[in-house]
This record gives sequence, structure tokens and C-alpha cells, in this order.
Amino acid sequence: MKKSLSTRITVLTALVLSLTFLCACSNENGDNNNENILNQDLTASDINALLFMLEEEKLARDTYMFLDNQWSLNQFANIQNSEQTHMDAVESLLIQYGIDYNILPVGEFENQTLQDFYNQFITEGSVSQINALKVGAKIEDLDIVDLQDHLVATANTDLLLVFSSLQCGSKNHLRSFVHGIENLGSIYEPQFLTSEGYNSIISSSHEQCN
Ligand code: MN
Ligand code: MN
Repeated sequence: MKKSLSTRITVLTALVLSLTFLCACSNENGDNNNENILNQDLTASDINALLFMLEEEKLARDTYMFLDNQWSLNQFANIQNSEQTHMDAVESLLIQYGIDYNILPVGEFENQTLQDFYNQFITEGSVSQINALKVGAKIEDLDIVDLQDHLVATANTDLLLVFSSLQCGSKNHLRSFVHGIENLGSIYEPQFLTSEGYNSIISSSHEQCN
């Protein structure tokens, strides 16, 4: 997944750069019909969505890094790598569109809500393996809902592509954490998804994400 996503983004970046060049040429000829199609604008809402999702993916990565050191559970070792690819995908768009961003050290967040979540998650997740897996499920539950809100709010095809891919990954992660919770004899109650949304994800199988 990492390879195909980063390859697509690299191709996309090259395409946008070359098309930007073509647009500049056609503008000189007084023809700017292609500009709006090929050179998508980001709205203020798109920019905020990218900056927020960069840190929310970091919240997942940093929490799983911490919990991977606390417990020997496959989920945290595997999924933290996937979260790094999610961060990389969002970061690529920020670079592509020339938006300034910061990636703080592990465990530190600019967004106070995400900082509070991190502090809460590492405390909760240190109690037991079941609690640790429930923290994982809760992060994915939150991530799927936030990505859905951002998908509905944008018309930018670059954002739609990346957010859809991240959401597909988050659904697989949620299935994996819930499977682990049930294997330890407990259950997860969705905190952000509706019961219908949650059940439809859990009752369907692992997806191949682009
Ligand atoms: Mn993610
Ligand atoms: Mn995830």
C-alpha cells in the first residue's frame, strides 16, 4: 500500500507541475480555459483539513509507537507503519500546494484537542492490553468520522483521493483492533461512528486500499 500510494502521489505531483507549466504558456496566448480544471484551488477549509489530518494521523502514529513499547501486540507494530504512510500522503499534498506546516516531536501536537487525546490515550492504554486495543479502536473510530466530514466538505480531487485512501486504511485498522479486543473476550462500543456505520464496517471484510 505504501508503495502504490506514494507512487500515485509522485505521479500526481509531476502531473500537476507539468500542467502548471502548460497553463502558464496558454495564459500568454490569452487562453486560460484549462487553468481552473488543471490547477485546483484549495479553499481555507481544505487547508485546515490537511493541517488537521496531518496531526490526527500523527496522533495515531505516536500513540501506537508508545503502546508498541508497552505491550507486545502485533497491531501496534504493524499499524504505526501504516500511519506513517498516511502522514506522508498528507504531507505530500501540503508540499504540492506550498502550504507551510510543522511536524512536532513524537507526543507533541499543535492542536490542543489532539494533545489532550494523546495524553489521555497513553494513560488509558497503559492500564491493560484490552485498554490499549480499545484506544486503537477509538482512534480509528474518530479518524473515520473526521475523514468523512472532510470528504463531504471538499471538491478538490487530490484531497478526495488521499482522504478516501486514508479512510480505507482506517477501516482495516478498526477491524484489526476490534478483532484483537474480541479475541481477549471484550467488546468495543463505537464512540464517534453511528451504530449502523460501525456495524457495516465490522461486518465487511478487509479492503484493498489504493
Ligand atoms: Mn491513519
Ligand atoms: Mn489508522
